[in-house]
Parts: sequence; structure tokens; C-alpha cells
Amino acid sequence: MSHSKKLIPVNSQKDILEEYKNTPIEKLFKYHNLGKKFTKYKSAQLLVGMCMDNRKHLHIPDNFSFIIRTGGANLRFSQFELSFAIAIGGIKYIAIIGHDKCGMVNLKAKKNKFISGLVKSAGLKLNEAQKHFNQFVDKYEIGNEVDFVLSEVKRLRLQYPKIKVAPLLYLVENGRLYFIK
Ligand SMILES: [Zn+2]
Repeated sequence: MSHSKKLIPVNSQKDILEEYKNTPIEKLFKYHNLGKKFTKYKSAQLLVGMCMDNRKHLHIPDNFSFIIRTGGANLRFSQFELSFAIAIGGIKYIAIIGHDKCGMVNLKAKKNKFISGLVKSAGLKLNEAQKHFNQFVDKYEIGNEVDFVLSEVKRLRLQYPKIKVAPLLYLVENGRLYFIK
């Protein structure tokens, strides 16, 4: 697993990084990784940004979290939703959860399949499908899952200085969450 050097496993409460102790980020790990019994929530405690990928599911209580799902956990085009969750929803914590084997890595290699799929399955004309791909590919390409999460976290910390933002990774093979170093 190519990302493993950069990941910190959480298999017990003592693995929670100091800066996230007694925060909703710790609770997220307790619910998802450590099997903590669900508590009832009246309002959201954090916002999770994660990939739209169908192989992932978070084990968390109802009402615990806002969740924005996008290709590659890319929140660059979800700015208003983020600000809404902070200003109206009152959350003070964000978890950006990337995952391994993400489809938004190396999109150029999927170009022909993407275009022919749009033509065959959705009925677009070939030139429309080509234009569509070319228009969006650079905006949605994430390059590398771990580095992309770190760059998003850096960007969001600058944009929202009072909000705590945690970089996390979900491993598809075991369904567990990790901190990214
Ligand atoms: Zn993905």
C-alpha cells in the first residue's frame, strides 16, 4: 500500500492525536473505528468532506455530521456549502477524508472511456463529450490522494482560521480511517 508511510492507524483511544482529543474528530474515530455506542445528537458536530465513491460508508450516528461528497473529496467547488455549515450549522471542525484507489487520480488515462461512455450511455454527441471532458479534467484531477487531502486541508485552514481541519484517509481494503501525517 503506497500511502502507508504517511498514515497513522487508530486502533485504540490512545492513538488519537493530542490536538484532536476531546473533539468531534476523536468521536468520529471512536464511532467508525472503535465501535463506540452511538449517542443521540440534536445538531451536527462537524463537517465531513469525502469522495462520492460507492465503496465507502461511515459508521456514525444520525445528526452527527454534515457530509459533502464530491469526486476525490475535492471541496474547491463546495465553498458555499462549507460556509453554510460553519455559519448557520455552527460546526467548528472539518474532516477531509480521502481514500486509496480514487477514481479522480490520473483522469487523463480514462479520457477515451469517459468520452465513449458519455456518448453511449448518455446520448451526447462525440464533440460535446470531448468538450465536456476537456473543460473539467484539470479542475477535478487530484493527482495523488494523500497529497491532495493535505493541500485541501492547508487551503481550508487559511480560509477559515478558527476552524480545526483534520486530514484523514479511508482505506478501501479494510474500511478504516487513518490520520494523515
Ligand atoms: Zn474517490
